[in-house]
Amino acid sequence: MSALSTRKKLEILADAAKYDASCASSGTTKRDSRDGKGIGSTEGMGICHAYAPDGRCISLLKILLTNSCIFDCHYCINRRSSDVRRARFTAREVVDLTLSFYRRNYIEGLFLSSGIIRSSDYTMEQMVEVARSLREDHDFRGYIHLKTIPDADPELLRQAGLHADRLSINVELPTEPGLKRLAPEKDGRRIEGAMAQMRSQMDDMGDARRKYRHAPRFAPAGQSTQMIVGADAADDRAIIQRASSLYDRHRLRRVYYSAFSPIPSPSSVLPLKRPPLMREHRLYQSDWMMRFYGYSAAEVAAATDRDSGCLPLDIDPKLAWALQHRASFPVDVNHAPREMLLRVPGLGVKAVDRILASRRHRRLRLEDVARLTTSIVKLRPFLIAADWRPVQLADRVDLSAQLRRPAAQLELF
Ligand code: SF4
Repeated sequence: MSALSTRKKLEILADAAKYDASCASSGTTKRDSRDGKGIGSTEGMGICHAYAPDGRCISLLKILLTNSCIFDCHYCINRRSSDVRRARFTAREVVDLTLSFYRRNYIEGLFLSSGIIRSSDYTMEQMVEVARSLREDHDFRGYIHLKTIPDADPELLRQAGLHADRLSINVELPTEPGLKRLAPEKDGRRIEGAMAQMRSQMDDMGDARRKYRHAPRFAPAGQSTQMIVGADAADDRAIIQRASSLYDRHRLRRVYYSAFSPIPSPSSVLPLKRPPLMREHRLYQSDWMMRFYGYSAAEVAAATDRDSGCLPLDIDPKLAWALQHRASFPVDVNHAPREMLLRVPGLGVKAVDRILASRRHRRLRLEDVARLTTSIVKLRPFLIAADWRPVQLADRVDLSAQLRRPAAQLELF
């Protein structure tokens, strides 16, 4: 392993990190070095060097400290029994790479994860050392996301939170039986225990900062997690309910859903095919409904198919919910409260806020609403405007089929 060049290690360890989707850099505090002090910033964009499995480009240096691991999770390419080439960075190497990439404006921060080497504590110590050295030795002010190891000593998790913007622990599978089957060395209770500990540290530090302006921050961008979708038998209903309970109990900033991607030399217990990427997309939409549109987990779960327990792939979950709850529609764009407007398919948060602002001055017509949305066709059956009342459309038995109609190429001439 020691004979590998830094470039080769980077190639191996950046590739090994691509299976982790949970590295968006939203929600942290603004810091920069425009006053000539320190280096780095949490704002602005660099050149992307990390790619999620679906090709999303992320402007973080996204690497593993090592792809060696003493665990043997079936879905993971880095598992003990996997026949992949192994590599390992030292903490110092990761610090140097981050700084040199940052100086060249390739990246806006670091996302660091790792396989478990020797022990959870030893691995976590190395990761904390990277973040500590960047912050304390180099006054690095860019974004740092550390993937933490649930079994590590609580003091190490505390130190990680003092240096990193965001911490995350993967729950990995949506259900406990799924975790037992596919990651037998992991323990769902310990994972949630570590999340609870991080939440309590965030609360304590938040209280301290309200009293003392200079009290240290703890993971200001909060904590997140990731669930693998389609590697076990869990349906979308179970995934939605698990995500909702994680948001409630541990106040997570984000739950990421990662469609299981088949890995080279897969374990025989894994499915042969990946789930459709659209399933991952629909779960993100359902997540959005809970976080920004005011739906409860039970309401979102009601949009799933009764037999399969999964969200429809051909229409978005908000439209699926509206089609099942036609008695709640149409909604009057000139009178309805914000929470009902948010339930109209095709109306996003920004569009609703603009409707609320505009209707103070005049009664809105359908064409006014059309300017705020990309699909007036989807929206018309669910909305009343000054010049529009869709009684017949809303009652049509074939409304669902109409709205599901596949997009067709228009005549060009
Ligand atoms: S502990 Fe993490 S790196 Fe190790 S096999 Fe499991 S998922 Fe992979």
